[in-house]
Formats: sequence, structure tokens, C-alpha cells
Amino acid sequence: MAKIVVIGGSFAGLTAALEARRKLGPEHKVLMISKTDNFVFIPSMIWVPFGWREVEDVTAPLRPILNKAGVEFMHAEATKILPKENKVKTSQGVIDYDYLVVATGPDLDFDSVEGLGPNKGNVECICNPKSALEARKHWKEFLKNPGTVVIGAAPAAGCAGAAYEFLFNMEYALRKNGVRKKTDLYWITPEPFLGHFGIEGIAGGEGMLKAFMKMFNIKYITEAAIEKVDKEKVYLKGGKVIPYKFSMIMPAFMGAKVIRDSEGLANPRGFIPTHDSYQHKEFPNIFAAGIAVDVPPPFKPGKVPLNVPKTGYPSDEAGKVAAENIKRLIEGRYDLQSKPFGKIPGLCIMDAGHKEVIIVSNHLFKPRQFAVMIPNVFYDINKRLFEKYFMWKVRTGRSYLP
Ligand SMILES: Cc1cc2nc3c(=O)[nH]c(=O)nc-3n(C[C@H](O)[C@H](O)[C@H](O)COP(=O)(O)OP(=O)(O)OC[C@H]3O[C@@H](n4cnc5c(N)ncnc54)[C@H](O)[C@@H]3O)c2cc1C
Repeated sequence: MAKIVVIGGSFAGLTAALEARRKLGPEHKVLMISKTDNFVFIPSMIWVPFGWREVEDVTAPLRPILNKAGVEFMHAEATKILPKENKVKTSQGVIDYDYLVVATGPDLDFDSVEGLGPNKGNVECICNPKSALEARKHWKEFLKNPGTVVIGAAPAAGCAGAAYEFLFNMEYALRKNGVRKKTDLYWITPEPFLGHFGIEGIAGGEGMLKAFMKMFNIKYITEAAIEKVDKEKVYLKGGKVIPYKFSMIMPAFMGAKVIRDSEGLANPRGFIPTHDSYQHKEFPNIFAAGIAVDVPPPFKPGKVPLNVPKTGYPSDEAGKVAAENIKRLIEGRYDLQSKPFGKIPGLCIMDAGHKEVIIVSNHLFKPRQFAVMIPNVFYDINKRLFEKYFMWKVRTGRSYLP
């Protein structure tokens, strides 16, 4: 009998746990440890500040989903992994494992920009339900006294796509609330060009985004290195200062604290180096999936650091590969399934507030044989359909679906 422990209950961890359970016989045990006892569909956080989505609508309790599938659940925070002893220290005691999947997502690296983060400046974040609801409070206050809006991404951010989504939703929300004429809207990004997204862009993307910026009167600065924010201004390297009344800056990500606190497991940023099988490079019974995996950018560094987007689809795929490979190791096989991150197909819907862009490519990274960006300027429906589909998939435990 083998004991498989999965840390994390989101895109990567939930998939890995359910897939491990589905693939392995009942003699093996699967346990998930998660510090949150709910799955939350994070991509919908872009709508929460505007009141277009309630957090409850995109939340599903983990325990019933897991228990129905035969996975044990432990609502606890993992505090340290001891890879040489095959143990995880948690807030509820020490857990042994035979195989471990680390799917702990990111911690938000606010400290790399002075003044960023909760209770410091007034800059919002939309990376989790708490911060998205906080942003809603400030959005309501902003509407009473509107002014300049600054949306952007910090140096080394890896989730620029979500910040673009928020930018265009913001533009739409300003118009819907009748205050667009009273606002200047800025987009400040570490990308070397619009639509780079941390994947070196998609053919036609830069032109399309330039057209959007012009059409919606959005001022933009590329290769922007945000150095500091305070309660009223955003300061860029080179001396430019932009005053704001409302701002949302996507922070850079680092690995979760438990990983950074576990010696020998990760690189200095707390991301776990793995083979293309998502197996740890040093500890063969440890796998990582989702944002926890170290994915070095495949492109030359620009003037301002930028990271790759580790989005939901590759997180889900890595969870599946990790589960399959644990099964193979238990069966005594050495031929592990391999799915290099950069070769996972790109499948992304950029909701842009009453318009959308669908991005499809055969590989996330270049070289790609096929890559298209399809704009729909009349309506946005596909991300909402995707949200409904994904929540159904989660609630019914159908982890094997795409
Ligand atoms: C605003 C926003 C919009 C986005 N939009 C999209 C989109 O449109 N499409 C898309 O594909 N992707 C999108 N993404 C990215 C997507 O949300 C991530 O790819 C996905 O959440 C990564 O999943 P994960 O499982 O790796 O980590 P996470 O979702 O971060 O989950 C980490 C899990 O680990 C648990 N955990 C962390 N530390 C511990 C610990 N010490 N002990 C126990 N448990 C722990 C957490 O509770 C959580 O369950 C967006 C991201 C953001 C921020």
C-alpha cells in the first residue's frame, strides 16, 4: 500500500488528488492537505470588484467532493516538508507520505515594490477573494469621487494576462457607471511590447492590443518598472510619477512559504525544479504541479523582468501527469509520462469587458506551428461559459475532463 499526499486544493492539487484516486486501487491511500477548505475559481476574481460576480458563486467546498471520490481531506496548513524523511509538518501534526504532490500555488511578492500590499498604499490586488472584495469596497468609494486609474503589473509578474483582463473590464465598468469622461486610464506593464503575456506574444496580438488601447483611449507604458507606490502615486524607474485615485497592480509571484521554508526543495524564489514529468529533480517521490513548478522564461530577459503565465490549463495538466506518473512508479515502471510545460497547448480566453479575445496555440512557448488570437468585440460569453463548465467539473469531481 502506498500513501499519496497532495498539498493544495486548487487547479493543480484537486486534479492531482482526484486523478491519483481514480487511477490507483483501493489499497492505496490518497490524502489532500489544504489550508483552504474550498475550491475558488480564481479567474473570476476580475469581476468581483465591480459586483459582477459573488465569491460564493465560484466557490465549492472541497471535503464533500473529495470524500465522495474516496480521497481523505485534512484542513490544515503545511508548514514544512522534510523530503529526506518523507514527512510533512502541518498545523495539525506530522504526516508521512510515500509520494508527495506539491501544488501550493504562489505567495504574492509585495515586498519587491515599496508600498505594495495590503494596509500600505491604496493599490488593489485581485489575486484572491479577500483582496478582490477589498478592491470592491474601494471601487465603490472611487465612484463617488473618480479620477485617474492605473492598472498594471509589477516587474517579474507572471500573470500579466489577468491584469489585461482587469484593465478592459475596468474601462467597461467606468463607462457603465458614467464616469469614463472623468478618468484617465493607464496601463503600465513590464512587457517589452503589448500582448507579450510572458509567452513572447501571438502573431497579430500586439497590433490588436494597440488598436484596443486607441479605441478605448487607454494610455500605456511598456517596459515599465514600478519602483514604489504610495497612497496617491505610482513611481516608475526613470522618474515618471502617475497620480491615481484607483489602482490595481498584479504583483510578482514567489513559491508558497512552506516551500521556501523547506530546505533543498526549491530554487531561491521558492519554485520547485522538476523534470518534464513533474517529478522533482532530486527527490523522485516528490512531484510538483501548477504555479509551484519552476518554469524559467524561455525568452531573453528584457529591460524589465517578466515571468511566464502558469495558468489554469497547464496547472490542471501537470496535476494529471503527476498522478499518472505516481501510478507508474507504484507499478514499478520507469517510463514516466512527459509533458514539457512549454509544449502544453495554449488555451486562453481573455475577457475584456463586453468583448473578448480567444487565444489558441498548439504550444504555450515558441516555436509554435499554430497560434491565433480571435477577437470578439460584440460580446463576452466564453469566459463565463468556461467558469460554469469548470465549476461543474469541480463540483462533480470529473478531474479527467480537460
Ligand atoms: C486574477 C487572476 C485571473 C486569472 N485568470 C485566469 C484565466 O482566465 N485562465 C486561466 O487559465 N488562469 C487564470 N489565472 C491563473 C490561475 O488562477 C492559476 O493558474 C491557478 O490558480 C493555479 O493553480 P494552482 O493549483 O497551482 O495554485 P492556486 O490556485 O494558487 O492554489 C494553491 C492551493 O494550495 C493551498 N496552499 C497553499 N499553501 C498551502 C500550505 N502551506 N498548506 C496547505 N495548503 C496550501 C491553497 O489553499 C490552495 O488550495 C488567473 C489568476 C489570477 C490571479
